[in-house]
Amino acid sequence: ATTLKLILGDQLNCQHSWFRHTAPEVVFVLMEVRQETDYVLHHAQKIIAIFAAMRALATQLQAAGHRVHYLRIDDAANRQSLTANLDHLIAHYSASALHWQAPDEYRLDQQLKAYAAQLAIPAQMDDSEHFFASRDEAARHFDGRARWLMESFYRQMRSRHGVLMTAGGQPLGEQWNFDHDNRASWPGLPWEPSDQRPHHDHSALWQTIQDAGVASFGQPHADDFRWPLNRAEALQQLDDFISVALPHFGRFQDAMSSKAWRLFHSLLSFAMNSKMLDPQTVVARVEAAYHEGHVPLASAEGYIRQILGWREYVRGVYWHRMPGYDQLNAFGHQAPLPHWFWSGDTRMRCLAAAIGQSLEHAHSHHINRLMVIGNFSLLAGLSPQALHEWYLGVYIDAFEWVELPNTLGMSQFADGGLLATKPYVASAAYIDRMSDYCKGCHYQKKQRSGERACPYNALYWDFFLRNAATLSKNHRLGMVYQQLRKMDGTALAQLQEQAAQTRATLENL
Ligand code: FAD
Repeated sequence: ATTLKLILGDQLNCQHSWFRHTAPEVVFVLMEVRQETDYVLHHAQKIIAIFAAMRALATQLQAAGHRVHYLRIDDAANRQSLTANLDHLIAHYSASALHWQAPDEYRLDQQLKAYAAQLAIPAQMDDSEHFFASRDEAARHFDGRARWLMESFYRQMRSRHGVLMTAGGQPLGEQWNFDHDNRASWPGLPWEPSDQRPHHDHSALWQTIQDAGVASFGQPHADDFRWPLNRAEALQQLDDFISVALPHFGRFQDAMSSKAWRLFHSLLSFAMNSKMLDPQTVVARVEAAYHEGHVPLASAEGYIRQILGWREYVRGVYWHRMPGYDQLNAFGHQAPLPHWFWSGDTRMRCLAAAIGQSLEHAHSHHINRLMVIGNFSLLAGLSPQALHEWYLGVYIDAFEWVELPNTLGMSQFADGGLLATKPYVASAAYIDRMSDYCKGCHYQKKQRSGERACPYNALYWDFFLRNAATLSKNHRLGMVYQQLRKMDGTALAQLQEQAAQTRATLENL
């Protein structure tokens, strides 16, 4: 009797206990399906990366002696949905059992549970063996409290997993968090490390994807494809990151530059989110680099906080708040995304750079996502649902469990403040301080009104004016409202008029 074991496209963990022993009765199933390429419009590199990495895992498993049934996007037998293909395969193999790994996406979790419930054969969900925390660990930590705080969850994770802790159970350096050391802009030195990621030629795969009629956007770069596509490549990239970029990661974590898209970030999110690379290895190697004296504590801690803290925390938020979280829209924002989200064609230099990189590389680092694109979207009143679809499609690392809380919660405050204690918004002064974007921009960073005024400025003040009823009660925003109270009526009216004018002409900015 055959047991089918389904491996989803973001479950490419070759170290999973499923693969520890070969078993002739087990057939591993991987499938490239339109159901997964089409639920949102994806960046070309994201589709190539997932299919190529799935194919690489299938080859690796077969070479190790496992049985694999792989359905390519253009296979005649491919019914293009997970469940229709499973129906066919269960019949084909006269399968007596189905196993799948816990999906990270609510949509797939529901689909597979409902499918399993109506099957005549036993079906079982196994752990994906990837994360530090279980789906509900954050919810249990906060035990019914309405306000959650990442820092509190992070400290518990550090203690529980003994990461950067003394033998006596204290944080190394007598401090949990070195965030205040992480605020420097980048003066151009040290140089951005050269891009040491692997080179692949996936032109044939890209042709197949296009021939199959899969729609996409962004640059494919199929003939010189630079993302890691298996565990060995991901580990190599991790080691390169630790040796050349991590020493500077903490200090320049929030910096932005039109000359350097990657700066000192790791570009490991795709490898981790597709599960080629496990977060435990990443954290252990970064911690070891600190103990070996290779990187300062602030860098090691800053990096580990992103993974042991933020990454696990947002996953907890997702499982706690789904279903329904994706529909939240606390400010009632409804504007559609301007056309330049798909071209980068805007005179605002910061947005042209951040969106341009996203289309070019299927990636842009955190501060571009949060303080340039997200910031503008919130100030301009773009629909958080439309924005969520864009982020979910454009970034190579975007899987709903991590993308949705970041976009809708952290960046758009559409959950009314579960993930962020205040909206992440800023005017041109912040962007200018942290980047080189404003130099040479069509818009004037210091102006608040007039044709050449930087759109962020009036939108920023107008946002707080429009939402005074809810936001003025937030004690973290006391300073903003104090400044607003000092402005005279004419200045306020001018700001509001400028903002209204900007919101009416978003397409032309
Ligand atoms: P580094 O800066 O090198 O950070 C290391 C790792 O820490 C990342 O690989 C990631 O796994 C983790 N990490 C860092 N910040 C976060 C965070 N806020 N939430 C969860 N994990 C984090 N990250 C995704 O993985 N997928 C997404 O779809 C995604 N969408 C985002 C949308 C918005 C609006 C914002 C503001 C952030 C989003 N992030 C997302 C978080 C972060 O921007 C990316 O993880 C990061 O840019 C990935 O690049 P990197 O590997 O070079 O990261």
